[in-house]
Formats: sequence, structure tokens, C-alpha cells
Amino acid sequence: MCGIVGYIGKREAYPIIIKGLKRLEYRGYDSAGIALYDGNDIKLCKTKGKVAGLEEKIQQEITTDGTLGIGHTRWATHGVPNDINSHPHYSNSGNLVIIHNGIIENYDALKQELIKRGYSFKSDTDTEVLVNLIEDVMKKEHIKLGKAVQVALNQVVGAYAIAVFDKNKPNEIVVARLGSPLAIGVGDDEFFIASDASPFIEYTKNAIYLEDEEMAIVRRGKDVKIRKIKDDSLVDPYMQELKLNLEQIEKGGYEHFMLKEIYEQPRAILDTFRGRLKTDQAIIKMVGVEDNMKKFLNANRIIIVACGTSWHAGLVAEYIFEDLARVPVEVEYASEFRYRNPVITENDIVIAISQSGETADTLAAIKLAKSKGAFVFGVCNVVGSSIARETDAGAYTHAGPEIGVASTKAFTTQITVLTLMALRLARAKGTISSSDYRHHLIELELIPEKVEKALQSDNNVKTIANIYKDAKNCLYLGRGYNFPVALEGALKLKEISYIHAEGYPAAEMKHGPIALIDENMPIVVIATKKGHYEKVVSNIQEIKSRKGKIISVVTEGDTHVKELADHVIEIPETLESLSPLLTTIPLQLLSYHIAVMLGKNVDQPRNLAKSVTVE
Ligand code: GLU
Repeated sequence: MCGIVGYIGKREAYPIIIKGLKRLEYRGYDSAGIALYDGNDIKLCKTKGKVAGLEEKIQQEITTDGTLGIGHTRWATHGVPNDINSHPHYSNSGNLVIIHNGIIENYDALKQELIKRGYSFKSDTDTEVLVNLIEDVMKKEHIKLGKAVQVALNQVVGAYAIAVFDKNKPNEIVVARLGSPLAIGVGDDEFFIASDASPFIEYTKNAIYLEDEEMAIVRRGKDVKIRKIKDDSLVDPYMQELKLNLEQIEKGGYEHFMLKEIYEQPRAILDTFRGRLKTDQAIIKMVGVEDNMKKFLNANRIIIVACGTSWHAGLVAEYIFEDLARVPVEVEYASEFRYRNPVITENDIVIAISQSGETADTLAAIKLAKSKGAFVFGVCNVVGSSIARETDAGAYTHAGPEIGVASTKAFTTQITVLTLMALRLARAKGTISSSDYRHHLIELELIPEKVEKALQSDNNVKTIANIYKDAKNCLYLGRGYNFPVALEGALKLKEISYIHAEGYPAAEMKHGPIALIDENMPIVVIATKKGHYEKVVSNIQEIKSRKGKIISVVTEGDTHVKELADHVIEIPETLESLSPLLTTIPLQLLSYHIAVMLGKNVDQPRNLAKSVTVE
């Protein structure tokens, strides 16, 4: 997820773009860059790091005249954060320059084709492939930029919001969108382009939001023309009057980043699938796994090391790896593992999970495992992070920046990556039948839609939150795949509402926690249809006879639990192994609403930090 900004009009583009980039930095700050057309040529400056660093570099390197320009703040997906991988990217001729937010899934195939045709590449990004593809189409078909963008995008698989201009036609910027946001601010003889309206809110309140598969050419002194990328048909621009303030815009209209990130999950999971899950061909492609398949096939066991929410994702992975790929898995707190003198052999695979990729204890655990000869695989969200560099191979979650301290979309995308890995390995080992494998792929592909549906429980959850917001304690119970979800639900509540909460395997309740149950104790029970349903229902009965208040997460259409529980929250049906991706959604919402109702600082809870770089 990156921030993109562009301007074409009568004012100096530079100050508008720089200010706009600062407002979009919440979307990523791996690097920043700008390209201005000064009337003669393109002036381009880019650098690793934040926009403030870019400003300094610009002062030393380029002049800032010009009424046309584009700028980018990057959250890397392809290629580590460095100067060269920063946007904007030139085409080989130097005529075109592009900024991009998104992932081009088939970039490698397109790149190989372009290399054969004589193109060379400076960066490791998918974006540089796209700008050269556009150039190649222009040359081959003798067509102008707008048309070439359209032809090129019809060959692209993936997600994008792009802005591109041609120095030989410096009166227009071509923009397009599929999957990533793009807004056009329409002023008096001027246009603004941005990932959200924050860069142009003070100049104009009129905005057109491009829809997926639409492109537009914004031309000096002309009206915006919007077309469908697929069939070239013209679309009537729908102009909106902006009513949000700056802060609301950055949060996408949500009250908090956490809520925004909860709602981003369908998209984030799709981004995790990108280029990896090919259900129609029954293929899962993950380079880090593919390149090291021998190691995975020969592994005696998998040791997962992580902390906090990532540790819970690891616990879910333990179930799925053992269940499908029949390999023994141990899940360890990185902080314990590193000091325990653990037994590690060269036939062990260590999977390290961390959103930030900077978690100190997890890094130390990796170093220890490496020193004992284990193969270490990283699952991180932040590209080029320390863990990504330190591990032998890995897979990024591609969740986009997570700003809220309480992790939400990082958790579900970690589970998604680990599920893809387990399925790929199970297939290679032959521990899953091909029909079961296909069934998993089909169900997995439906998950983003089902998460969307699970999010519709929001109002119901809010009502429940209002009833229990003053509770002093809360229990979370789940079994099997949903035991780690119970732990995660309890952690979320603790983190942001400061209510004491415990997660337990449902059957463990009678070995202690049952003593806590009385009419004041809310108990969240995950009781989905396929997950040891009857047994969990018995646990619910036990709670009920002790007058505990039961909030149950059930499969859509369940009637049995409805009769027993005080409240039910329905989620769509899926395979048991995939159910954590759905059951976790209402629990995130529950903790969110309770924290808001209690007036807590949801995005920055006390005593916590986003990336724990100390032991
Ligand atoms: N895929 C592009 C890159 O890595 C854009 C990244 C993004 O939008 O997150 O540079």
C-alpha cells in the first residue's frame, strides 16, 4: 500500500505534492519520490525513507519548477526499500514516468518477455515492468500514452492505482485503478490525483473516485474523460462533494485506524493471495517454499517462533500443518525459546512470524536457530525488515501498513500465508487427496467474501459490547482451530479496553476457570458447526447452569446454540481449518467497540508499542 499524488494545472506542483505526500505517509514510508515536468524535461528525485528526507535531497539535487508532477510514498511489496526501488520509475527511453500502488502479479512473466525484447531493469519492482510494458505497447502499436496504458493494463494481472505521464506530451496525466484507491480532485483548470482526498482537500471539495477497472486522462484545460479499461466504453464521471475533514480522510472515514484495518481484511487477504493462489489451475505458488521444497519435504519438524498475536497465528498454523501436511509442529514464544537451550537440528525448519519483522525476541530466536543449522523461514508484513533479511527464505503477508497497535489484519493475513504454505506442502507430500486439496482452495478463495459477511455482524456486536462494557473479567473459549482464536480474542480485549480476559481451550474450563463463573462473568464461546460442535455445546450447558453470560460465535443458521446462549453472533460456514479467519472478526469488533465505549485510546493503547524492538 503506497500513497500516490499528482498535480496538473496552473500552480507550482512541487509544494502541493510534497504536502500531499506527508499526509499520505500513513500509507507507507519506506521511501518517497517525485517527478516534475519543468517545461523542458523531467526532474526526478527519490530516496529511501520519509518525505522529510526527500525534501532535503530535492534541495540539493533538483529544481522544483513546473505545473505538472507526480509523487509517491512507498510501502514496498517487490524489492527492498532502497533508493533504486523507490518510485517514480522511468521507462527505458526516459520518456515515461510512473507511480504505482499495488501488486502486479504476473510481473515476472512480463519482465522476461520484455528482457527478450531488449529492455533492461534497474529496480526489483513490479512497477518498473509496468512502465516498460506501456512503453513497449506505445512503440509496437504506434499509439499514444492513454491507449497504450489501456492495452498494457489488459495484459496485467494484479492490483494497481497508477499515474503516468509522457514528457513528450506534458499536458496530461493518465491514471487507472484496479483494487487500489484513486481519487481525482477537480479544481478550476486544474486536477489533483491522490490515493485519498487528503492531499487536495484545501484546494477543492470536488472529487471523482475512480472505480475498479476504470482509467482517466486528466488534461490541462479539458474535462476528465473516464473509460473502462476492458472495453474502452466511456463512463459518466460522478463528482462528489467532500464533507470529511483531513483526519477523517486519512482514516478512510473510519473513527480509528484499528476499525479501518478490521474492515480492510477482505482486501488484505486478497492481496495475500495475489500471485499465489490459482484456484482454477489448482496451484499454490510461493517462491520461498518452491525454492526450498526439498528442505520442507525432508523436515523432521517445524518449530514456529513468534510473540503476541503472531504467536496465536502460529498456533493456528500448528493445527493446519499437522492436520494437512502431517509434519510435527511446535509453537514457541520467541522469548522463551531463545533462552531455553532448545534442541534444534539441521532437519528442523523454524518459521518466524512477525508483523513488523523487527520483533527483538523473534530476531534473537532466528539467530539462535541459524547457529544450530536450522533452515529459517520468515513470515512478515514489512518488506526488507530485519527478520526478512535475517531469514533464509520467507513469504510476505502483504497486508499493507498496520497503524493501530492492536493487530488485526496482520493476524488474518499471517494465517492466510501459513494456510497456503501448509496446503502447498501437503500437496507436495501427498498427505492431502486432490479433491480435498481443491476443496480447500475453493473455500480459501471464498474467504474474503465471507469475511465481508462476518463484518456485517458489527451492529449486533456493538449491542453486545454495550451490555458487557463494564465487565471486570471475561473468558474466551474455543476448541481445535478456534482455541488460538479464543486466546487472540482475549488478548484484543486486554490490549485496548484494559479488561482482564483469559482465553482457554473450552474443555479446560472444568479444570479451573469454571470456578470463576457467576452471573457477572461474560464468556465468549466459539461454537462453529464443524469444530467439535457437540462438545462445545456441552461446555455451553455447563456455563449456563452456573449462570454465566454466554456470547457465542456460531455458524449461520445455527438454532441449537441460539436457545442456550444469551447472545449469538453468526458467521458464514466454511471448512473448520479456515474458520479462524472468520471467527476472529467479531472478536476484533467486540474488543474495539468496548474500548471505544470506555473512552480508551484504541489506536495507541497505554504501555504498548507497534513494533517491540526490545526484549
Ligand atoms: N509493488 C510496488 C512496489 O513494491 C508498489 C507497492 C505498494 O503499493 O505497496 O514498489
